[in-house]
Amino acid sequence: MSQPRPGTLHVVATPIGHRDDISARAIETLRRARVIAAEDTRHTRPLLQHLNIDTPLVALHDHNERTAVDGLVERMRGGDDVALVSDAGTPLISDPGFRLVRAARIAGLRVSPVPGPSAVIAALSVAGLPSDRFVFEGFLSAKAGARRSRLAELAGESRTLIFYESSHRIVESLEDMREAFGADREAVVARELTKMFETVLGDPLSALVERVSADPNQQKGEFVVMVAGREAGEDERLSEGLRVFAILKDELPPARAAKLAAAITGAPRKALYGA
Ligand code: SAM
Repeated sequence: MSQPRPGTLHVVATPIGHRDDISARAIETLRRARVIAAEDTRHTRPLLQHLNIDTPLVALHDHNERTAVDGLVERMRGGDDVALVSDAGTPLISDPGFRLVRAARIAGLRVSPVPGPSAVIAALSVAGLPSDRFVFEGFLSAKAGARRSRLAELAGESRTLIFYESSHRIVESLEDMREAFGADREAVVARELTKMFETVLGDPLSALVERVSADPNQQKGEFVVMVAGREAGEDERLSEGLRVFAILKDELPPARAAKLAAAITGAPRKALYGA
C-alpha cells in the first residue's frame, strides 16, 4: 500500500487587535486544515466563529507543547494538514510554537508561513525611528535586577531596540530604560495598535516617562517600546560626563556627583555611577 502524502504545518498569523487584519489566505488555510493547534482554544474559538470556520481545535501552549508535538507530527506524517495559531499576531514571536516547528522540520515535513500581523513590525512601521536595522528583545524580565542588567548590556547597541511590555510594568521599564540609556535617548511607545485606543507617543526617555506616569490611561493595554540606538555623539557625552564626574566626586557623594554630571552633560547617570 502506498504511503499517504505527508501533511503541511501552516504557521498562520492572526490579528493583533482589529479583527479584519487577517489575510484571505489565512482564512482559507484555517478552513482547509484538518486541525488547528491554538495557544488558547477559548481565545481562538470566537475568531473562528466570526469567520464561519469549524475546523477542530487542539491546545498547544507552553505547558503541553512538549507532549502535544509528537501527536501533531504523527498526524502530519499520516497526511493531515495542521494550522498553528497563537492568541494574537505571528506564532513563535514571543508565543508558543517553536518546538512544533522544529519537530516538524526535523521530521522532514513541509512548514509554510501564512504571514500577517506582528506587533513588533506594526510598531516599527509607525515609530519614525531608524528601521533599516533593529534588535527585537521580546519581553524584559519581570525581576527588576535582571531587567536592569539586561538594559545595561544593551546601552551601547547602535540599532533600534524593540521590547514587548505589559501594563503591569510599563512605567518601571521606561524608568529603567531612562537610567540605562540616558534621559535624552529618543523612544517611542506604541500602545493598543489597531484597537480603539491606539496611541503612539515619541519623546526623549525623560519626557516619555513623565507622560506615561502622569496619565493612567497611557498605562493600560498592550505595549511595544522602541528605543533609538546609541549615536556616535553619545560616546563624547559619556567621556565628558566622566570628566565632570571625576571633578565633582572629590566634593560630593558619588550618587550626587553622578546625578549632577549627568544633568550637565546628558551622559547616562547609571554609566557614570557605575564608573
Ligand atoms: N505573537 C505576537 C506578535 O506577533 O506580535 C506577540 C505575542 S506577546 C505574548 C504579546 C505582546 O505583544 C504584548 O504584551 C505586547 O507587548 C505586544 N502586542 C500584542 N498586540 C499588541 C497591540 N495591539 N499593540 C501593542 N502591542 C501589542
